[in-house]
Amino acid sequence: VDDPGSIERVTPPPGVVRIVERLERAGHEAWCVGGAVRDALLGHGHLDWDIATSARPEQVQRIFRRTVPVGVEFGTVGVFDGTGVLHEVTTFRRDVRTDGRHAVVEFGVSLDDDLARRDFTINAMAFSPTQRRLHDPYHGRADLRDRIVRAVGVAERRMAEDRLRALRGIRFAARFGFELHPDTWRAIVSSAPHLNRLSAERVRQEIDKTLEQVARPSRAFALWKESGAFATLVPLLERAPLDRFHVADALPQPGLPQKSARAVLRLASLFVGDSTADVRSTLRALRFSNDTQSVVCRVLDGLRAVADDMRGVLSREVPSARQIRPWVASIGRTDWVLVMRLLAAVWKAECASGGMAPSAHATRELYRGGIRIAFTDAIAVGDLAVDGDDLHVAGVPAGPEIGRALRALLRIVIDDPSKNTRSALLEIAEREFGRARPPSRTTG
Ligand code: ATP
Ligand code: MG
Repeated sequence: VDDPGSIERVTPPPGVVRIVERLERAGHEAWCVGGAVRDALLGHGHLDWDIATSARPEQVQRIFRRTVPVGVEFGTVGVFDGTGVLHEVTTFRRDVRTDGRHAVVEFGVSLDDDLARRDFTINAMAFSPTQRRLHDPYHGRADLRDRIVRAVGVAERRMAEDRLRALRGIRFAARFGFELHPDTWRAIVSSAPHLNRLSAERVRQEIDKTLEQVARPSRAFALWKESGAFATLVPLLERAPLDRFHVADALPQPGLPQKSARAVLRLASLFVGDSTADVRSTLRALRFSNDTQSVVCRVLDGLRAVADDMRGVLSREVPSARQIRPWVASIGRTDWVLVMRLLAAVWKAECASGGMAPSAHATRELYRGGIRIAFTDAIAVGDLAVDGDDLHVAGVPAGPEIGRALRALLRIVIDDPSKNTRSALLEIAEREFGRARPPSRTTG
């Protein structure tokens, strides 16, 4: 069972087996196909067990009581198993015409035809749970053992049919730590200039999947760069130094929990060092949501505001609360954790590549110190013991002067939290900002 590629490892869930049995009893062929078979042979779990069948979509809909027309025009019917889990059952199909992305499909073909249209040999295996047999005409199991991503058939032709396969190939290689077969790699490189045929959504999805599925995304992005994919799709990242992509490796993979925060941090890590305007326009062009654009830019701004200062202080001493407080204030309590996690990854990656950066220990202390401060100390105008009305009553003229006074009081309180009392602040305000100030301050 420990042998990679042993079919003992392939154990589809009972619900899937029952769907296959039912289709076979009705006189059709039915097989488990695609990523789940591949992952099971590798010894990894996989949630989606796709079924391929000789039954036509309308036959599948007749055989099972509870179905959903997920993509009937492409042959896919969703079938609920006994426990209410939905599985995709897709009619054997062949792509009759393609234009680099969209395919016109034809039914009434064999399992072998269906496997022939799949992208890589490791994705083109079929497993029969009733016969407990692997059907593997393209030797995907051998490629799994040899750790190779290889296109099914003639690589150049397969990549020209669907340019997304170039990015998928890179993703599978990085995810499993496999090599790309030389012919497949050459076809990816010659696909690179044509990748602008892909919609921005598809490209974004590949970036998202890479950040989510790949433990060390730097390998994937080095291949994006080397193949020319970045030059065509994300010019800003084409110009990035390769070292930068190691920051993503130092950040945890976005599984559950904290899926979205982790995904955002890994995304932001790709742009450390770029200008906010460039990042914003790149993310917009890739159709990342407005929310994602904003968080990424905010985190990068926060990092830019504090990183050099922190690095300088941490190289000399353990920072005091008094030193940390202005950093928390400038980043803000909601972003402190994100910015510090990203910065910790930046420094970790630097250390890993032999550079000098604050240690993990010092960084953790700073991170925790900042969290304590964020919860207890005044770091924003709203945390002050006085508000604008109080200042007005105390004699500060209405208008922009109030805002200036509040910000000045905040700076004082950030430096010395013991001053954050109503009486202390009103006294300062009267003295420094009241109407009775020295004339030079009002006229100047
Ligand atoms: P993942 O774990 O990322 O979902 P997967 O192999 O299941 O990996 P899917 O995108 O879910 O990938 O596709 C399921 C199967 O459909 C693949 O294993 C492959 O056989 C086939 N397939 C998907 N996309 C393509 C494509 N662009 N060209 C050819 N075959 C494809
Ligand atoms: Mg899948």
